[in-house]
Amino acid sequence: MHLGCSLYTVPKTNVEFWVAKVERNKVRDSAVWRRLEALGWKVVIVWECQLKKAVFEETVSRVRKEILAGGKEYVEGVAAAREAREKERKERVLRRNRDEYFSQEIKAKFNR
Ligand SMILES: [Zn+2]
Repeated sequence: MHLGCSLYTVPKTNVEFWVAKVERNKVRDSAVWRRLEALGWKVVIVWECQLKKAVFEETVSRVRKEILAGGKEYVEGVAAAREAREKERKERVLRRNRDEYFSQEIKAKFNR
């Protein structure tokens, strides 16, 4: 999933299912990128929304730059992306712990 994408919306039905599915996709995507990078591949990500007419040229130029960079710039980009994923993972853990904490609190208060 394209994080923070303005074009992304959660479907109005089966919300729980879709939120869980998107979360699984994010985890899977990130694992796949890490595996590819570990195998020595360079990963350039292009989201569907980045191929829209208004931003197409900008996207092509970014992809071209990333491909040509190959070395230092790419490695820095990978490191930044890895940091962002790590930050996201930590936030996910924090959110999960917070949710568990509140759910325990609620249970303690109302399920006596
Ligand atoms: Zn997007």
